[in-house]
Amino acid sequence: MTTRHPAGSRSCADVKGVSSLRHVFAGEIVLPDEPGYDQARAVWNGMADRRPALVVRPTEVDDVVSALRFARDEDLVIAVRCGGHSIPGLSTCDDGIVIDLSKMRGAEVDPERRTARISGGSLLAELDDAAQEHGLVCPVGVVSHTGVAGLTLGGGMGRLQRKHGLTIDNLVAVDLVTADGRVVHASEDEHPELFWGLRGAGANFGIVTAFEFRLHPLDHAITFGTVVHPLERARELAGLWRELAENGPDELFLSFGVTHEEEAYVTALHSGPPERAARDLADLRAFGPPTSDSIKAMPYLDTQHLADESQDWGHRFYMKSAFLPALTDEVVDVCVEHATRAPDGAETGFSVWAWGRRISDVPEDGTAFTGRAAAAWLAAEAMWDDAELDEAARAWGREALADLAPFASDGRYVNDVAEVGAGVARTVYGDAKYDRLVALKREWDPDNVFRLNQNIQP
Ligand SMILES: Cc1cc2nc3c(=O)[nH]c(=O)nc-3n(C[C@H](O)[C@H](O)[C@H](O)COP(=O)(O)OP(=O)(O)OC[C@H]3O[C@@H](n4cnc5c(N)ncnc54)[C@H](O)[C@@H]3O)c2cc1C
Repeated sequence: MTTRHPAGSRSCADVKGVSSLRHVFAGEIVLPDEPGYDQARAVWNGMADRRPALVVRPTEVDDVVSALRFARDEDLVIAVRCGGHSIPGLSTCDDGIVIDLSKMRGAEVDPERRTARISGGSLLAELDDAAQEHGLVCPVGVVSHTGVAGLTLGGGMGRLQRKHGLTIDNLVAVDLVTADGRVVHASEDEHPELFWGLRGAGANFGIVTAFEFRLHPLDHAITFGTVVHPLERARELAGLWRELAENGPDELFLSFGVTHEEEAYVTALHSGPPERAARDLADLRAFGPPTSDSIKAMPYLDTQHLADESQDWGHRFYMKSAFLPALTDEVVDVCVEHATRAPDGAETGFSVWAWGRRISDVPEDGTAFTGRAAAAWLAAEAMWDDAELDEAARAWGREALADLAPFASDGRYVNDVAEVGAGVARTVYGDAKYDRLVALKREWDPDNVFRLNQNIQP
């Protein structure tokens, strides 16, 4: 992205303390003139092309504390990285320090208590694999190389959300290193207000070194796939999606979409037994005939890898999203109109995910996350490789969402917000929650040490 963040003014040559950091730091330190620097500074979104003064890779909690102290002593802006998938590139920076937790990965499952303890640099694949080894699952996102930390601290949407809620709704506790270098445990019982803020605005309050999640049984094949239709049938298909989202079981996840290839589709994941899935998906499969229908039984873990390649690192990416009280015909018409206007050379599309059920069972003020009452989440997404297309692709997304604004409900999903700057976080959380988050920020990070995020300004 073109956005530049307020960075410390130091260049790497000025960072005198690096040799003293090396004495206490067990992990890796990568400087700009060293091999591996270009790989170390890269993040998922190819538009975030920044040059930190150094990248450090801690291997233990003490390293995280040392890196934080060093950064504060040297007055360096701090970027914290787990999976590196931040849409605006918030896990990298110019001239500052990247604290990259990729050497702190791993998951331990307690099958009796049905919980998992996950290190702060883990990817979704590590949590999924460890849980499924015991026939268990945690609801997380849909691309396995996304980081557990960034996804969870913003909320965590996924295909099990109607049955098991957002990822944060399954978060039991975290260990975090706070701005003053303390190691703190937060849960419903310990520092409950901090735990409230961590669930939706979490990147603002510290560096999470471990998460504990509640898991749920899932030890049989799920049913997953997509039915595709010509764009002319988008309204009818959306009507069917509405009907299924309203009347289908909690196990049924549905997304509706339209693409720049002039297709409309519904993707379904049914996590109930295959015979119930066949019954619940019969109307969807009978509608048509579809151009294609890939719905079939498969292992849950397979579904979690299906988009890994198409969503690989290094492409240029922009998205803009909103919550909807309903997927109306008017909304479908706006999506169809903009789908056909996409800039040549970019892959673009809209997707609409069914919400409700366990998500809306949690009270709106139960966590910092904002937007639980929505019936659906909608996103316009664009991916491309040619930098010449940057402006056109971003303008496409912005214009589409401007036309959809009259149909949106309250809140924004913080993890989708590509723009960064003063005032953005208030639009995510709304006034009341934002003010509550400011009070929390003043308590835990009064100097705004953690500011590369959708920032709560103390
Ligand atoms: C390909 C792709 C697929 C996605 N799919 C989904 C999806 O299915 N569901 C969904 O809900 N979202 C999804 N997202 C959005 C995703 O949740 C956010 O991009 C999220 O921030 C990524 O987390 P990360 O750890 O990979 O990111 P990073 O870039 O590493 O970090 C993101 C933010 O979290 C902070 N952070 C990172 N690690 C820590 C830590 N240990 N402690 C404190 N702060 C930390 C960073 O400072 C930064 O502000 C997707 C994004 C991409 C690019």
